[in-house]
Amino acid sequence: MKYVLVTGGVVSGLGKGVTASSIGVVLKACGLRVTSIKIDPYLNTDAGTMSPFEHGEVFVLDDGGEVDLDLGNYERFLDVTLTKDNNITTGKIFQFVIEKERKGDYLGKTVQVVPHITDAIKDWIESVAVIPVDGKEGPADVCVIELGGTVGDIESMPFIEALRQLSFSVGQDNFCLVHVSLIPVIGVVGEQKTKPTQHSVRELRALGLTPHLLACRSAQPLLENVKEKLSQFCHVPASNILNIHDVPNIWHIPLLLRNQNAHDAILKQLNLLSIAMPPALKDWTMMAETYDNLTNSVRIAMVGKYVGLTDSYLSVVKALLHACIACSVKPSIDWIAASDLEEDSAKLTPEAHAAAWETLKNAACVLVPGGFGDRGVRGMILAAKYARENNIPYLGICLGMQIAVIEFARSVLSLERADSNEFNANTPDPVVIFMPEGSRTHMGSTMRLGSRKDAIPYHQLYYCKTYVEERHRHRYEVNPEVIEVLEENGLKFVGKDETGKRMEILELPSHPFYVGVQFHPEFKSRPRRPSALFLGFILAATGKLEAHLKGHQNGI
Ligand code: GLN
Repeated sequence: MKYVLVTGGVVSGLGKGVTASSIGVVLKACGLRVTSIKIDPYLNTDAGTMSPFEHGEVFVLDDGGEVDLDLGNYERFLDVTLTKDNNITTGKIFQFVIEKERKGDYLGKTVQVVPHITDAIKDWIESVAVIPVDGKEGPADVCVIELGGTVGDIESMPFIEALRQLSFSVGQDNFCLVHVSLIPVIGVVGEQKTKPTQHSVRELRALGLTPHLLACRSAQPLLENVKEKLSQFCHVPASNILNIHDVPNIWHIPLLLRNQNAHDAILKQLNLLSIAMPPALKDWTMMAETYDNLTNSVRIAMVGKYVGLTDSYLSVVKALLHACIACSVKPSIDWIAASDLEEDSAKLTPEAHAAAWETLKNAACVLVPGGFGDRGVRGMILAAKYARENNIPYLGICLGMQIAVIEFARSVLSLERADSNEFNANTPDPVVIFMPEGSRTHMGSTMRLGSRKDAIPYHQLYYCKTYVEERHRHRYEVNPEVIEVLEENGLKFVGKDETGKRMEILELPSHPFYVGVQFHPEFKSRPRRPSALFLGFILAATGKLEAHLKGHQNGI
């Protein structure tokens, strides 16, 4: 196994994840099989309990792993399916070591960070790196490891030490370190400053790790003399100093790396030049350029709870992008804080209320994404009602589907107090209820997580497919007892789980596009392979759905 380690210096938020996945894309384009591991040095066992407000979206994997959103970047960029073990956290490592200690596995020894924690990290990396993630058999050629945080953080020290040992044990030819750093511009003269990078490389060296390549983030392209200075002071050949300057969209990053021959430098370090091909990135280039040249846009109202930080819905944004590109339009997302649509807001913050409604009314379609807790729920219900009554395309994901059911029950069935048990345990009309897959009394996690097989007897967007396998992350579901009355009144459940008890897809056949799904189609959407539901949603918003479906029926 060959390892490419990506570390970060100077500040966080440099786009280390995108850089690491882009390196993977270029290596894959050279004909190599690539896997990836993301290390998050925080103490949480996984991202499942972290707030999207603070940490961005919780990404869900096929195996039910709730992981850092960077794993979503890897899955989308490399088109792979990762496992929960591809995300290592301090919490997981300590839990593993402490469990072993309790079992008596350390035979009376003092359990220490070095060697016990560091050994556990090394073993974990080496065993996960060989898990095939691209549908083929046998291990990948290269494993890209991204170390979260910034070099020098107290939390990442055990990982740095473990990686130092790993670099030594796997040998020179099997380890390549790419350090991502920032080149700021200071003052009116606009000079590109190398000192912060020099310091962070020095810090890395002091910890026993030597960077083979530098990936320097800057607003404008790096000047030649700045590169020379970096080379001299950081002890890295000028040909190994990459520059990632600002680009119109992130799909340009692999192209930027290829143009600077990053692959040659990495392959040389890993002694892979003889088996690699020149990078084939034709499709990728086309995708990046197509996006730049799109002129028409579609306005999408995104009505949610965590709209302050757009990373909270990263995969939904990417899935919209994939679908929009397939429809040759640019997504223009209008973020609406659901609570601003509510009546209370009309009294307390009238301007925000008016602005939210105006934005909603100007949008071509409405999306209510997943969420937890009752904040903003009333606003989401108003948005769903508005879309239903005005024939505006609506896509409700997870919570968004439950919202559609509550709204329909209240407005159409006149059950004014219809609700989800998540928001009101005592509602007389629980249309959404807690339906654990395991025992109700069983301790521990009750969330329905990961991939499930759902039957779709017939759905035009899925054409001839009879089932889908999509990822889930929820506790509550549509109450099976109310299905009959909802269906009699026009709300159809066109996708169910294999038992037929759990409702997975709903739609209003009388509406141009009113769809709710209990699963999260955004997690499996890929560039050039958009999710069928997102595609249908955007086609409906741009008035092309009918023609598209007819074309499909005629085999076009
Ligand atoms: N809060 C809802 C549930 O637990 C919806 C979850 C979600 O949208 N991911 O069922």
